[in-house]
Amino acid sequence: MKYYILFGPPGAGKGTQAATMTSKYNLRHVSTGELLRAEIAQGTPLGKQAKVLIDAGQLVPDEVVEGMIASLFDTVKDVDGFLLDGFPRTIAQAQALDKMLQERNAQVTSVVSLMIPDETIFERIRGRAAIEGRADDASDATISNRIATYHEKTEPLIEYYRAAGKYAEIDGLGTIEQVRERISALLDSLK
Ligand code: ADP
Repeated sequence: MKYYILFGPPGAGKGTQAATMTSKYNLRHVSTGELLRAEIAQGTPLGKQAKVLIDAGQLVPDEVVEGMIASLFDTVKDVDGFLLDGFPRTIAQAQALDKMLQERNAQVTSVVSLMIPDETIFERIRGRAAIEGRADDASDATISNRIATYHEKTEPLIEYYRAAGKYAEIDGLGTIEQVRERISALLDSLK
């Protein structure tokens, strides 16, 4: 099993690019954001707890997302690997992932990082708000908090994975097609 991490700030294009990568390489796309939005839509207790945090641009507790990921690792079998999108998002989650994989005799294959500047994050999320109607895309205050949360809690993962020799960065600017080509070239080179 391959375990790829699709990394990058909010609005970097992870969800968009994940779709083509999963079909090309037979991977299961696991988006913690989508899983949490499904809990919110179903009105579960977990969803209710998550909504308050998500709408404030904060992270949900590590244990919540770690539990979701572990249960998918144990149930999804008919794929060549996983494409993790939105997880890990903190150093604690990265350490938990390493442990989960070690227990399954596996390890992170590679981190594919899509990089865009903060100004572009704002532009893209404002554009997406009109199309997708996500509550956490609707207000500038929430977007600013998500960017701040990213820099504070998630960006340190770059060093974590660089030190492990697993970090590969791709320019996330340009058209969807251009970025897709860059990702494909990278993944082909890793095979
Ligand atoms: P984006 O990448 O556009 O910020 P996501 O759809 O990945 O959005 O996530 C939406 C929100 O869900 C995040 O802002 C955060 O509150 C919550 N979330 C998603 N993944 C995690 C995670 N691994 N740990 C904690 N919170 C998470």
